[in-house]
Amino acid sequence: MTSLQVSRLIPSFAWGNEKILIAGPCAIESEDSLEKVATLLQKLHWKFLRGGAFKPRTSPYSFQGLGEEGLKLLNQVARKHSLYSVSEVLSPEEVSLVAEYIDILQIGSRNAQNFSLLKKVGKCQKPVLLKRGMMMRLEEFLLAAEYIAEKGNPNIILCERGIRTFETATRNTLDLSAIPYLKEHTSLPVIVDPSHATGKASYVPPLAKAALSCGADGLMIEVHPCPQNALSDGEQSLDLEQFKNLAENINTAQ
Ligand code: PEP
Ligand code: MN
Repeated sequence: MTSLQVSRLIPSFAWGNEKILIAGPCAIESEDSLEKVATLLQKLHWKFLRGGAFKPRTSPYSFQGLGEEGLKLLNQVARKHSLYSVSEVLSPEEVSLVAEYIDILQIGSRNAQNFSLLKKVGKCQKPVLLKRGMMMRLEEFLLAAEYIAEKGNPNIILCERGIRTFETATRNTLDLSAIPYLKEHTSLPVIVDPSHATGKASYVPPLAKAALSCGADGLMIEVHPCPQNALSDGEQSLDLEQFKNLAENINTAQ
């Protein structure tokens, strides 16, 4: 890859230089739980509500998401609270459906090198949040972004979410070096997801702070009103009080 190619990745986000602060449940479960999270986000001036409607679960027997019904709920609750919605799209066939309801299309770690999906969201008008594949080198991550940009969509947010290493004490290993590296090699916003990086709620606040100290342009945090009852990723989800504490104790100034 030449640096010329990488420098073509120029974002043009309507929200300018503000930090991109995204939070919400792993999966969309009900209107009531989304409402609780969205009300808090609005109060704390976090502008992006996340939630999966199509869930890429390791086991086919785990909760797979509410599908289109979930997209409708996320759209409705986000609008009500003046938030942008963020949700994952799993396959090229689903892109137009997800884009109908959702403001930012998320490409998950497991799909970060699904080239037909990358090309398809590249032809879409909606911004794309591209998560780093769990086994992906940074150069490969940038080339995945390049697939999207090359099809005409420059609105890409890169998300470091931890990679697989020999360490098994945490769900993944958060690669903080990715932040300065990616910022040196592109002008795209780089955000960090400490929830999937650690897999453990109590480790999320310190790594969120570390990410911002390293220059991250934003965060993606999993929040659930009742993590012990969450249908997915409860162990790594902050409850509302824990999330409020985190949001009030981080420096989100530029
Ligand atoms: C998610 O953000 O919902 C998710 C599944 O994350 P990842 O693709 O990083 O595993
Ligand atoms: Mn999750």
